[in-house]
Amino acid sequence: MTRFSATLAIDEAVRSRREAGGDVLHLGFGEAGLPVPPGLAEVLAQAHTHNGYGPVAGSTRAREAAAGWFTRRGRSTEPGAILLGPGSKPLLFALLAAIDGDVVLPRPAWVSYAAQAALVGRRVLTVPAPEASGGIPDPDLLEPALRRARAEGGRPGVLVLTVPDNPTGTVAPAEQIRAVLRIADRHGLAVVSDEIYAELAHHGSAPSPLTWLPERTVVTTGLSKSLALGGWRIGFARTPDGQWGRRLHRESTAIASEVWSSPAAPTQVVAAHALDDPPEIVAHVEASRDLHARLAVDVHARLLSAGARCRAPQAGFYLYPDFSPARDALRERGVHTGADLAATLLERHGVATLPGSAFGEPDTALTLRIATSLLYGATTEQRWAALAARDPAELPWIAPALAHLDHALRELTGPRDPHR
Ligand code: PLP
Repeated sequence: MTRFSATLAIDEAVRSRREAGGDVLHLGFGEAGLPVPPGLAEVLAQAHTHNGYGPVAGSTRAREAAAGWFTRRGRSTEPGAILLGPGSKPLLFALLAAIDGDVVLPRPAWVSYAAQAALVGRRVLTVPAPEASGGIPDPDLLEPALRRARAEGGRPGVLVLTVPDNPTGTVAPAEQIRAVLRIADRHGLAVVSDEIYAELAHHGSAPSPLTWLPERTVVTTGLSKSLALGGWRIGFARTPDGQWGRRLHRESTAIASEVWSSPAAPTQVVAAHALDDPPEIVAHVEASRDLHARLAVDVHARLLSAGARCRAPQAGFYLYPDFSPARDALRERGVHTGADLAATLLERHGVATLPGSAFGEPDTALTLRIATSLLYGATTEQRWAALAARDPAELPWIAPALAHLDHALRELTGPRDPHR
């Protein structure tokens, strides 16, 4: 049976605790937490007359805009290689359904890859990510894992990489990506490169696997994170040049034709506009990236001072602390697993996070995925103010939220109060 997605489940749990009057600091959901970028509401309103279905792969105008967007980022792309969808999640599903073989994932990895692989009847092979980065398997462990899988009757067929990564908030170094792709190439694997956070690399641009294995790499991305438009459901994929890529485009479009028919027509008009990179959108992404970086760095420091280990944030709005250095203090509080840790934080301290086990880690891993983006504010006005602030951590709604987190962390890992 398919379980409800862990990230969506925590969001619903937080909503019902708040409705019951609870004060919850929501660090559990991967929503960008920012307002609709300038100009897009007007474009969407004007597009309300677009009420026909339209082409399955997306309108010509939107596909041209997506191709131009890739081309301006140094990856020359024809509109015919683009497939738009209602978010990148269904596109990932269609691609995993269209590409044969077992699915190879880094561990930890975003929650939905393994669930989608199971839905399309594929086996999953997970390989630990490198210690200091995430989103790719450790190149030293990948080759032996693939050999072992084959010896045991497996058929590794597709490797999913997340660059930059959710849940770790890191950008795998180019050298490591290249090493992983050499192995993928030797083993004839296809590569799905999930680049939905690429515009949100805190410093410089994130390397794309497309650079090293162009003929076997399909890229997925969308506007949910960089433009905070998750609810408008705009995703797009770029299939590679060549025969294999064209076949993959045909097959995934055929799946789309049977599942979602076509992406929503009005939001494709928005996509076409935003993907042309108008200056106000470029400036907005820059401001968002800066805010994400500031708060991720701030919360990272708080996690380290509470005794956790944590990869330094490099992209997006995620942190992936490991509380195993505080194992003894946690044991005293009845915390033995990542799920205990997340449950204690939520139930005793009103802080919502997700345990590493939601991302494929063993139950015993004392890891959490923390999203910092819902700290920006609860209202559109607060979120605009956070984007404009010189020091967002000092804003009167963010500072108390950070103090709430500090308090929870102290209670969790600090010396115990003998009077309690
Ligand atoms: N890939 C990753 C790594 C994500 O974190 C998400 C959203 O959380 C998605 C894909 C799916 O995003 P969407 O379907 O909104 O494009």
